[in-house]
Amino acid sequence: MDSPALLWFRQDLRLADNPALQAVADRPLLPVFVLDDAAAGRWAPGAASRWWLRQSLEALGRDLAARGTPLLLVRGRAEIVIPALAAAIGAPEVLAGRLYQPWARERDRRVAEALEVAGRRLRLLTSSLLRDPARVMSGSGRPYAVYTPFAKAVAAMGEPDFPILPPARLRPVAAPPPGDTLDSLALYPVAGEPDWAADFPALWTPGEAGAQARLARFVAGPVSGYAAQRNDPGTEGTSGLSPHLHWGELSPRQVWHAVRQAQPGELSQPWPFLSEILWREFSYHLLWHRPEMPDRALRERFAGFPWQPDAALLRAWQRGRTGYPIVDAGMRQLWHYGWMHNRVRMIAASLLVKHLLQPWQAGAAWFWDTLVDADLASNSASWQWIAGSGSDAAPYFRVFNPVLQGEKFDPAGRYVRRFVPELAALPGKWLHQPWKAPAEVLRGAGVILGRDYPGPVIAHAAGRARALAAFAALRAGG
Ligand code: FAD
Repeated sequence: MDSPALLWFRQDLRLADNPALQAVADRPLLPVFVLDDAAAGRWAPGAASRWWLRQSLEALGRDLAARGTPLLLVRGRAEIVIPALAAAIGAPEVLAGRLYQPWARERDRRVAEALEVAGRRLRLLTSSLLRDPARVMSGSGRPYAVYTPFAKAVAAMGEPDFPILPPARLRPVAAPPPGDTLDSLALYPVAGEPDWAADFPALWTPGEAGAQARLARFVAGPVSGYAAQRNDPGTEGTSGLSPHLHWGELSPRQVWHAVRQAQPGELSQPWPFLSEILWREFSYHLLWHRPEMPDRALRERFAGFPWQPDAALLRAWQRGRTGYPIVDAGMRQLWHYGWMHNRVRMIAASLLVKHLLQPWQAGAAWFWDTLVDADLASNSASWQWIAGSGSDAAPYFRVFNPVLQGEKFDPAGRYVRRFVPELAALPGKWLHQPWKAPAEVLRGAGVILGRDYPGPVIAHAAGRARALAAFAALRAGG
């Protein structure tokens, strides 16, 4: 078949292991990316994600052009843009990687309908997950609600297929329609890179080549110490692949097989890392089967939780001024890196929803705007897990103590000293609870509490007791 094809890139911004690209790689091709904020609504990419997307589109455009098919960029409603482009180039088919967000599913339905009216079709292929969520079901034919049996079921399906190589050459369509420029997509809030992104370029290289390089670096070293180091925010013990995976600059099966190559043999050795890849799959499984997850508690009895929304408390948390050093370090890492270590995400999120009684949706919204890996499935599932309302959440009464968590996971204080420099000179004994330090120790470290660094926004015991009382009220009410 030599009819032209329209290849619609979405969250699969890569050429290697891209099933949609492979399906049409021998036909004249028009690759397109559509920025459709109206369809995504509240879930249009946040500011940090837009920074990433801009760089990633630039890289994808370069990679495609080098193979002979420039990337068309268009800003607009996909259900109008895609059928019009398919008609303009005479493509009977539009190919794309499947998306799982409720808004994207709804949009794909509209696009497919509009194409069908003109006798064309939308073909969606699994490209961003190891297994399609609709295909992983329990013995009784129901979706999974708990991680461990889900992970076992996915593992029992065997190792994923090997990744597909990228095509060497691609053929362009005869007369590609005009598109928009990258600048006109206005992915940066103002002209030039935004201030808060000043550190991003030194940390991140969006695009397929950057993703491959980070993966290669991870499997060459940190993967072997992952089980021991993954909870230490002061080291680079995790892969940092999350934004690359989110935008599909890498596929999970590329990651899986790269890790398996480094650690062949029994699955138990790479399992600590691969099980995290399966947490990502599980989050998508939940989102697919419980599309209300980004907005509403998965456990219904949490619907009436007595939150106490408070703009000042939320702002103190956002700015990294809660008085709990491990939390503040995390929130400042988030601001400067567009990323936060997983252990600290858990501690910071827990402080917000439990000690401060702020709705998890407020925390999730902040993460949505500030994370370069903001992902509707992983973000909503993780926030609900921490808040106790997730389908597989830990028992509510397990309230993290932010001091003990800091002492346990940042014992040498490397992480806190890096991100909360005003406390850098405090001895380790007081670093995670500066308000307990004797006056002369504070003086010696050049810290005046309340001026250089705040006291704790709420005492741990009081915060914990208040959270448990709120939960008890919920139980009494429901
Ligand atoms: P690694 O430890 O190297 O793990 C490898 C990959 O596995 C990650 O890149 C990621 O794709 C996946 N993964 C790891 N942990 C999880 C997890 N708990 N849930 C789902 N997938 C996981 N992750 C996001 O990708 N986007 C989000 O928006 C997001 N929001 C979060 C919000 C909260 C409150 C919490 C507690 C966690 C959130 N996570 C999110 C999960 C996790 O923190 C990040 O995936 C991880 O920190 C990314 O760093 P890494 O790539 O070095 O992870």
